[in-house]
Amino acid sequence: MTDTPASQSPSTATQMLAAAAALGMERLDAQLLLLHVLGRPSGDRAWLLAHDTDVQGDTVWARFSALCARRIAGEPVAYLLGEKEFHGLGLQVDARVLVPRPDTETLVDWALQCLEGRTAPSVIDLGTGSGAIALAILHARPDAQVTAVDRSADALAVARANAQRLGLALRFAEADWLEGAGTGLDLVVSNPPYVAAGDPHLAALRHEPPGALVSGPDGLDDIRRIVEVAPAHLREGGWLLLEHGWDQAAAVRGLLEARGFAEVQSRDDLAGIARCSGGILRAVK
Ligand code: GLN
Repeated sequence: MTDTPASQSPSTATQMLAAAAALGMERLDAQLLLLHVLGRPSGDRAWLLAHDTDVQGDTVWARFSALCARRIAGEPVAYLLGEKEFHGLGLQVDARVLVPRPDTETLVDWALQCLEGRTAPSVIDLGTGSGAIALAILHARPDAQVTAVDRSADALAVARANAQRLGLALRFAEADWLEGAGTGLDLVVSNPPYVAAGDPHLAALRHEPPGALVSGPDGLDDIRRIVEVAPAHLREGGWLLLEHGWDQAAAVRGLLEARGFAEVQSRDDLAGIARCSGGILRAVK
């Protein structure tokens, strides 16, 4: 008899990762899911090497292979782990919210630059989802008054739980964009839905909430609304910063200019694609 007859389930980390690779799993995803099943932190990949031939408990393979099957069926790793790191913060996420993307950290960095030199600035994050943008800003700028807005009560529950776990005093509003928001804001920031209905890319995003992704025939319905209403809520010198699709920068800059914003510009994401655009309000409209 060999150590691992074909009829026997993989019992060591090495065997389980080899079996996952044979199923078509990416190596990093498989390592993260196996660490999760073993109750170890995601940063502990060295542990898997150091313990590569340890025999694991009976249920580890069953739980790991079930997660691999879900991953292969397209579920984001973040949902399977229940967490995602964003701008240095550990956030809990599930299918009620979009998975925070590393590209959105660009938007946070830009927002923080806009707040430099302002004391106790007032900020609104529209369509906060997990609370990622709002929490990252508040973490970096504890003096800011940051409100996280979402029209989805489910999403706000996720954001609230994240704020509580991180000990950040975020404010919340269940609203349709800036409806009911105050005036005199220093910054309105948003990663709104911006994918065009019918975009073939949506198939790969089918496990995430469509309400967080899709925005009309050209993907710009929500951005048009936000650009339209934001000036009434910003102070003079306040910024509006928006994330958008890879091919929408010129259109969004055009909307901002048409609405009277100044210093209209775009910023690149990690892949070098113009991914967010914004402008400053020079005179209260
Ligand atoms: N960045 C996401 C994607 O296309 C879309 C997020 C959004 O619509 N706000 O993968």
